[in-house]
Amino acid sequence: MTNERPSGHEQQKPLLEITNLKKYFPIEKGLLRRVVGYVRAVDDVSLSVYRGKTMGLVGESGSGKTTLAHCVLRAYDLTEGEIIFRPGDQEYRLNELEAKELRQVRPHMQMIFQDPYSSLDPRKTVYDIVSEPLRLNGATRDAALDQRVRDLLEAVGLDYRHMKRYPHAFSGGQRQRVGIARALALNPALIVCDEPVSALDVSVQAQILNLLSDLQAQLNLTYLFIAHNLRVIQHICDDVAVMYVGKLMERARTDDLFRNPRHPYTEALLSAIPIPDPDRPLPEQGLEGELPDPANPPPGCYFHPRCRYAQAICQVEAPPWLETEPQHFSRCHFARELPLQGSI
Ligand code: SF4
Repeated sequence: MTNERPSGHEQQKPLLEITNLKKYFPIEKGLLRRVVGYVRAVDDVSLSVYRGKTMGLVGESGSGKTTLAHCVLRAYDLTEGEIIFRPGDQEYRLNELEAKELRQVRPHMQMIFQDPYSSLDPRKTVYDIVSEPLRLNGATRDAALDQRVRDLLEAVGLDYRHMKRYPHAFSGGQRQRVGIARALALNPALIVCDEPVSALDVSVQAQILNLLSDLQAQLNLTYLFIAHNLRVIQHICDDVAVMYVGKLMERARTDDLFRNPRHPYTEALLSAIPIPDPDRPLPEQGLEGELPDPANPPPGCYFHPRCRYAQAICQVEAPPWLETEPQHFSRCHFARELPLQGSI
């Protein structure tokens, strides 16, 4: 699968360019740990993320989105493929970098974690947590560091006078703001947001999403945003990539994907979004059955055992990656003709 061509505002080169990325985990058996198969956690994914934009990754648990993000951060070595990262004027082939070079690149890419309770060290003050990336990169404890921590806390809406407090003194939303301040400390170009609001109360989720949007506008940040909640994706993402058993099933502009899905899996995900209106009938389409084993996916289209539109060809022939409309891609034999329902 080749990467998509740019259009419109995307005449620039992507900040992040992933090409034919594969991450297979070996399955070992016996005393000799013989390799008897592979879990295809990420299977031939190509994706471009542009500066100042948010790319959403969506799919059920086990679809490979977090593994893909960890490959981007080089927490995992790739099985195959290429990742080009262009912070500032530099260009790095992340898949080729050794540990020493990776250490130089890492400040440009940071992560916001899902659980603000477990991701902050309870023995450290907020000051220690937010200043840690700066200290690890050579900053010393002085007035300039204090000022930087104050600025970061103010940027995320926290009172800097509380910086000597420990995480337990804060609510979940406030803790996530601390995690965001820490992620911003080194002025990263790319932030991987791994389900950053799914552990928060619904009332707080919108505040954190709005904060992330405001920070993006102020600092020209780029987000790779993992979520299983499509309403969250709709709120914050410019583009969406739908993953299933390690493969991309669909990729499109967010509005386009919600209005006009071109893959039955996306339609099923959209139909499962709860709509807070007791007068609206329950959706007809749902997502039945289980995600297949990525070590032993079904032949043909991986989605065929769960697809209400499956035909004979789907059981034997893998569908191609089709561009159904400009900048809208789908991996379905019938992507252009199925009467799929969107969601507004
Ligand atoms: Fe469904 Fe066939 Fe399309 Fe797969 S290729 S999503 S089984 S219609």
